[in-house]
Amino acid sequence: MTHQHFDIVVSGGGIAGLTAAAAFGQAGFSVLCVDPTPPVTERDVAGSDLRTTAFLQPARSLLQDAGLWARLEDHAAPLQTMRIVDAGGAEPKPRVIKDFDAADISDLPFGWNLPNWLLRREMVAHLNEMPTVDLRLGVSSTDLFTRQAEARVQLSDGTTVTCKLVVAADGRNSTIRQKAGIDVKTTRYGQKALALAVTHPIPHENVSTEIHRSGGPFTLVPLPDFEGKPSSALVWMERSARAHELFDLPEEAFNAAMTERSCTLFGPLTLASRRTIWPIISQIADRFASERVALIAETAHVVPPIGAQGLNTSLGDLKVLLDLAVEQPDTIGGREILAKYDQKRRSDVAMRIKGIDLLNRASMAQSPILRNARAAGLQALYGMAPVRKMLMQMGLGAK
Ligand SMILES: Cc1cc2nc3c(=O)[nH]c(=O)nc-3n(C[C@H](O)[C@H](O)[C@H](O)COP(=O)(O)OP(=O)(O)OC[C@H]3O[C@@H](n4cnc5c(N)ncnc54)[C@H](O)[C@@H]3O)c2cc1C
Repeated sequence: MTHQHFDIVVSGGGIAGLTAAAAFGQAGFSVLCVDPTPPVTERDVAGSDLRTTAFLQPARSLLQDAGLWARLEDHAAPLQTMRIVDAGGAEPKPRVIKDFDAADISDLPFGWNLPNWLLRREMVAHLNEMPTVDLRLGVSSTDLFTRQAEARVQLSDGTTVTCKLVVAADGRNSTIRQKAGIDVKTTRYGQKALALAVTHPIPHENVSTEIHRSGGPFTLVPLPDFEGKPSSALVWMERSARAHELFDLPEEAFNAAMTERSCTLFGPLTLASRRTIWPIISQIADRFASERVALIAETAHVVPPIGAQGLNTSLGDLKVLLDLAVEQPDTIGGREILAKYDQKRRSDVAMRIKGIDLLNRASMAQSPILRNARAAGLQALYGMAPVRKMLMQMGLGAK
């Protein structure tokens, strides 16, 4: 029996997997990308991913190099300022408001926000035009066999393919990770995030606003206008029981609850999409590589959605792996290159997860003492200009 051979098999066509396929294909490697679920590419259809991704500066450079940005830029809302609000006093009112302006560290905005359903639509269209990429939707990887010289991936359509490197981007419950025998450490917070779109009378002026009270952050990220009204993506994190209560509220009551939690900073908020709900965990794989396999994105690490770190960290993985592959194209998937990838990436990601875990726990705080400490901490960190700038650089993934 003959097997098709590729330089790289990308298992998983989420946003990370699709970007990986485009980036490696653009660099001249032959790529197969498989995913069992054809992506939902319309906003108001059941199953559409209503989360948005704020691509920070380094992620945009990667999308540019991968040839994807030209298709995306017209749909993106720039994020010039990150506003952090502490509303943890007795009343749900802002008591500390601090603006982090991208102009303090760069000529560019911090990032650009795009809806996930639209990203999938544009990325799939782009990959279908790339001669180096074979995108197979409706097909999953079901088994993995590796040898020193190559990997063999069994697919759900009964075929088997061989390759030099398997890029595992098949999500937090990855089949490839399990087949490679790599374990994960998971932290559960008993917390869920509601993700949806809203409209509001007061324009966002390209400010992303994160409001902390208890239960987790309430974050409004700019979107282009929707039906002629200013619009934002909302990620609202709460303890699980409260999140489900909110998810089930009648629309009018939900609008009132959102408006109160937003401290009415944008006027009354109106639901402008379905509500979707997401479990919140932290997770990290024990290793980011094994023989002929590299783990990237949520296959390697999951973080709570704070500071737009999730997919941006994933694209950081991809950048490291891609640079190593381009430096030594003849040895992709080799032991040495994968050891370097694991070493360059895992400790950096572990530190980032620790930082986000701390921010999440501070934001969840119920007791007035902890909430006061959080407000004081924000004041103090903001007051020290060098620290403030360093935090902004770190948030971008530049440090
Ligand atoms: C509410 C919320 C808001 C967020 N906001 C941001 C943000 O603003 N900025 C940011 O950077 N990040 C954000 N994130 C994180 C970001 O959304 C995730 O990191 C990202 O969507 C995960 O992408 P992925 O491609 O790694 O995984 P997934 O999207 O889970 O993709 C995995 C893919 O693998 C496929 N698959 C599964 N099994 C197989 C198999 N056996 N073979 C082949 N394919 C398989 C699945 O069908 C799926 O398509 C947010 C997360 C949440 C929950």
